[in-house]
Formats: sequence, C-alpha cells, structure tokens
Amino acid sequence: MGTDQVAAIRDAIVDGADSETIAGLPVPDVYRAAVVRAAEQEMFAGIASEDKDPRRSLHIDEVPVPELAPDEAYVAVMASSINFNTVWTSIFEPMSTFAFLSRLGRESVWGARHDRPYHVLGSDASGVVLRVGSAVRNWKPGDAVTVHCNHVDDQDPTAHDDSMLASNQRIWGYETNFGGLGEIAVVKANQLMPKPAHLTWEEAAVNALTNSTSYRMLVSPNGAQMTQGQTVLIWGASGGIGAYACQYVLNGGGTPVGVVSSPERAALLHELGVEHVIDRRAEGYRFWSDDGTQDPGEWRRLGKKIRELVGVDPEIVFEHPGRQTMGASVFVCSRGGTIITCAATSGFMIEYDNRYLWMNQKTLKGCHFANYREAWEANRLICEGQIHPTLSAVFAFDEVAEAAYQVHKNLHEGKLGVLVLAPKEGLGVTDHAMRERLLPQITLFRRHDEKKDTA
Ligand code: NDP
Repeated sequence: MGTDQVAAIRDAIVDGADSETIAGLPVPDVYRAAVVRAAEQEMFAGIASEDKDPRRSLHIDEVPVPELAPDEAYVAVMASSINFNTVWTSIFEPMSTFAFLSRLGRESVWGARHDRPYHVLGSDASGVVLRVGSAVRNWKPGDAVTVHCNHVDDQDPTAHDDSMLASNQRIWGYETNFGGLGEIAVVKANQLMPKPAHLTWEEAAVNALTNSTSYRMLVSPNGAQMTQGQTVLIWGASGGIGAYACQYVLNGGGTPVGVVSSPERAALLHELGVEHVIDRRAEGYRFWSDDGTQDPGEWRRLGKKIRELVGVDPEIVFEHPGRQTMGASVFVCSRGGTIITCAATSGFMIEYDNRYLWMNQKTLKGCHFANYREAWEANRLICEGQIHPTLSAVFAFDEVAEAAYQVHKNLHEGKLGVLVLAPKEGLGVTDHAMRERLLPQITLFRRHDEKKDTA
C-alpha cells in the first residue's frame, strides 16, 4: 500500500500536478529510507576510521511515516545528496548519532518521535511539499522546494539573533531523524526554500548544505566577511564546501588559491576560473614528521609557494581538514588575517604554534552551517545563476551506500547526488531558457567526471 501511494505521489510530481491534486493524494503510512540501525552501532569497533565501510552500515529500509507537528511539512523527496556528515553517521564517528536522537527525544513530545532504533539520515533534499502542519503559513502542497538543514525551535529566545547560536540548534538528518535520504522527509517550515527553476531535481538537491556553509564562512558577517581584493587559501578546493568557496571568492573580487591533490582536480579548478592552484600531493608536503611532531619548515614551504603564486600571504584561510593542516593554516595566514574553520576531517585535536597567532594578531574563528537568512541568500544566488551546483555524479537510491563510500574515500569531486523519487535524471526544470544560457557552468563538474571515467 505504502509503495503504491509513494508511486502515485512520484507520478503526480513528474506529471506536474497542481497544488490541489498534490494535496488530495494520501500520505502513505510507510516509506523507503536510507538508515543506520541502532543495533549495529558497535559494528566497526576496533576498526581504523579509513576502513569503516558505509556499504556495510547503510541500508534502505521501510520505516513508518511519523506524525506531522504543526510547524512542519512533509516533503516528497525527488533527490538528495551525500554530505560528509552522511559519512560520519554511517561510520558512527566521532560518535554514534543515536546519542543525538535520544537527547532530542527527551526534549518534547514532538522530539520523542525522533528517538527510534533507526536513523533516517540525509541533510539535503529537493522535492515537493506534500502536506503542511496547521501553523505553516508560507508554503503549500505542490510547492517545489529545496531544504536547508538548520533545525531550530523558533520558540526558543536564543534562536532569535543568529539562529545558529540557538541552544537547541541541530543539523537536520544528522542530529535529527527523518532526513533527506528517504522518499518522504519531515522538515520544519523554516527549512524550506524555493527550488531553483533552471536546475534538475538532482542539481537542486546538492547545494543547500555545502553552499550555505561556504556562504557563511566567507560572505556573512558571522564568518570571515571577505572583501574585494583579498586572497583566500582554500583547502579541498574541488570538494563539497571548497568548490562553492572558490565561486564566492571569485564572485566577490578576491583571489582564491585552491589546494587539491591531483592534476585532474587542478585542471577542474582552472576551468572553474581559479588561476592559482597547489597540488598538495605533487608538492609532497609533510606538515607532520610523525604522529606527534609538526615540521615548521614544511609550513614555510607552503607559505613560500603561496607568495610565489600571488605575491602575498592569504588574508583568509578556509580551513576544514583540521589536524593535518591547521598548523600550516595558522602559519601562512597573513598578519591580521582570519583562519575560518568549520570542520576537522583529519582529526579534531588540533595543534598550532600560538606565537604566530597572537604576535601577528590573527583570528581563528569557528563557523558552523548557516542561519535561515544566510541559507536563503545562498539559495537566492543559485536561483539567480550567480553560484552554480557542483554536481559531479548521480547515484540511484539503492546505491546510496556506494556514494557515501566514495565520499569517505575522497574519490569524488564537488557533490554526489542521489535520485530518490525522481525516476531518472534531467527532470524538474521549469526555466529552460535560463538553463540553456548557463548550461556550461551548471554541468562543469559533471563533464569533468565523465572525462575522468573515459580516461
Ligand atoms: P569533501 O570530502 O567533499 O571535500 C573535502 C576535501 O578536503 C577533499 O576534496 C580533499 O581534497 C580535502 N582533504 C581531505 N583530507 C585532507 C587532508 N588531510 N589535508 C588536506 N586536504 C584534505 O568534504 P566537504 O567539503 O563536504 O566537507 C569537508 C569537511 O567539512 C568535512 O569534515 C565535513 O563534515 C565538514 N563540514 C562542516 C560543515 C559545518 O557546518 N560545520 C558543513 C559542511 C561540511 P584534496 O584531496 O583534493 O586536497
């Protein structure tokens, strides 16, 4: 029954059904979703991080559709994406996300719905609003949307300056259940944003988490607030957040210096418009001479390379690899500059030489996702064709674990999309003229990936 009802929803969306028709479709009792299971939380005990394999822990299960709270919407998910937090959830690092769900479960009656023996993950989605709760005013069934992942309770006073500072701020689909890697997602109304009309479902699905993060890190006053003419060192510049960071620096009149780990990635960045690229593997940087000792000579070598390329030290360093690179990032940042960090992929116990920070009056600033306003502005720039998706490959729903594995192993560029209800790629575009005009930019990462496959 659930399957038939989900199929009816999918067909209605593909046929372009109107709001009334969508509102009249029954909401199924069950849906298919990508989950990790509480019973398997210990499955990787004793295994090194790099060997923990999402293909063992991620499953497509049929799960019940939860009741809808008054401030929420059901979204029929056409496509979603893999984020690095999909990897974290699926390898149960740095902690099992079931701890987040049980904490949320203790907060309220509605929170209790999230505390289940399975976790529907996924922090991105594009799709169509299926139903709205009684308190939702700005959205209706049939609206084509993308979803950002900032989950806040708007009755909490601490959520009313910068909602990323709210005491109960969470990342949807990571610290909450019912995320975007399922046929139906449960989201708060204040997570909804309009779907860019010139993009397909899969192109529209991959932006919100990484694009909004890069926007806050570089553009927003809550981040580094880059100004024209500044030089920005971007680690992982062809990756999920890095490729949007490059676009923001270029659009804002700055000079990006992108760091990558292969000549192919360097070529991709050149095509994106990034002139100065450092191949960290070819340069052979060894910032750590062993597990406990860093080599300042290697930091200096990186700094010299950047000066050779652009003649100055970077005013902003876009940091996220963490332990492996932070010592170098603090060192190469200019006097008075900012190291803006949102992550620590290679380890979160960080070491750097504090003398370079205080004597040269640098700022090390933490940054996390984006508030609704920032996510909305970042989405507006996508809608206007000023920032472009970095979708490089698309996976069927049943291949979600393989897609997560590829991100875990750093085998991808840009973003990986996942078709959920969308029966094939290429659907969902309503502004064909705009798409035609921007096609080379929209498909840049995709074309690069195809070249890689045929090489
Ligand atoms: P990706 O895997 O898509 O990209 C990361 C890039 O970092 C890779 O392409 C790789 O590029 C580079 N990299 C990986 N390891 C190292 C290393 N040891 N030294 C130098 N570079 C390295 O991930 P995302 O860009 O999506 O996310 C990056 C991090 O940011 C993750 O930890 C993620 O969880 C976090 N994140 C945090 C957010 C927040 O709100 N706080 C939001 C989004 C992401 P190459 O090998 O080519 O150099």
